[in-house]
Amino acid sequence: MISSKMTKLAQNNSVIRAMFEEGNRLAAEYGRENVFDFSLGNPNFAPPEAVKNALIDVLNSTEPTEIHGYMSNAGFPAVRAAVAKSLNRRHGTAFTENNIIMSVGAAGGLNVALKTLLNPGDEVIALAPYFVEYGNYVNNYDGTLVVVPANPPAFQPNADALAAAVTPKTKAVIINTPNNPTGVIYSETSLKAVAAVLEAKQKEYGTSIYIISDEPYRELAYDGVPVPYVTQFYRNTIVGYSWSKSLSLPGERIGYLAVPGEIDDYSLIFEAASIATRVLGFVNAPSLIQLAVARCLDEDTNLAGYDENRKLLYDGLTKLGFECVKPDGAFYMWVKAPDGDDKAFAIAAKKYNILFVPGTSFAGAGYVRIAYCVAKATIENSMAGFAKLAKEYGLGK
Ligand code: PLP
Repeated sequence: MISSKMTKLAQNNSVIRAMFEEGNRLAAEYGRENVFDFSLGNPNFAPPEAVKNALIDVLNSTEPTEIHGYMSNAGFPAVRAAVAKSLNRRHGTAFTENNIIMSVGAAGGLNVALKTLLNPGDEVIALAPYFVEYGNYVNNYDGTLVVVPANPPAFQPNADALAAAVTPKTKAVIINTPNNPTGVIYSETSLKAVAAVLEAKQKEYGTSIYIISDEPYRELAYDGVPVPYVTQFYRNTIVGYSWSKSLSLPGERIGYLAVPGEIDDYSLIFEAASIATRVLGFVNAPSLIQLAVARCLDEDTNLAGYDENRKLLYDGLTKLGFECVKPDGAFYMWVKAPDGDDKAFAIAAKKYNILFVPGTSFAGAGYVRIAYCVAKATIENSMAGFAKLAKEYGLGK
């Protein structure tokens, strides 16, 4: 008998990954250009040229033993100091290298944070709809994921529902803004309301409740909509970041955790998280790409490209009669299933070689997620299929 946890996972493998595999199968059958795969948040834009140049520069200018050797579990001190300085400039924080732990992407950072914080039975709150892997990550450390229901139509956090979900066992609240899957950016007002609830609950229960702010889409904000920095509103905040999306580097596995000095048990948490990085088997974040991203901290994300896709998709779908949440950030569109059945909607779309993910996978039934980090032509060429889908549902009459 293998692990019962893993047996369950193997039997219910991720719907998103399953769609991705389905996309590959359809592409082999019909040709890649005839399949419109909006299932995975895998950026279609190449990383900026600066990343390649930085990699070459690192290889040419740094001792190989330094590039490829072991280092502090938290990462190269100089890289952490550079990240801290960049954050201080952008957000008015006062970080040093002793606040930054380099991570194996956002996923690695979240696992390190949860490994550090959780005892078995501790509760972690996620606000629906949420990135589906949170449940798995919490389960890794025998925590319990508690889901606060979605708050349509704006999908901002619902402070009252959050207050009702917090218990003396609540150790952390994961928030994700700009949000996957909705594309919504949490407003300052929403974040202040969340902070007020958690401050009051900490006092009531005499506990520490940490916000883990999962921010891989921080730079992906359109029309100048601000993405407030959560540490400004809530002291016990740990920030998780990744360059997977902003620099199109998801395969490189690089990000960081920012652990502010003001949080409860800072020293213990920083030390324990560094050790968690090691004992989880990462040992440290990959060295070469650490050194490269430290040279690319001011590189711009291809916001204009994603914005073009966003407008194209939003205009196209709304014209056809679909109801979409207009995304202010990230690269996902959250679209209402016309008859409320998101699974049936995703199956119906497959007839036209269009793949997207039912919202049920994100605790967001009744909606689907369309990832528009694809080639512009994919969106343009998918519209004929979307038009048939709209007709099938009797829309746009
Ligand atoms: N958190 C959210 C909200 C995500 O959407 C993703 C990836 O899609 C991750 C974390 C994981 O990111 P990474 O590839 O940096 O581990």
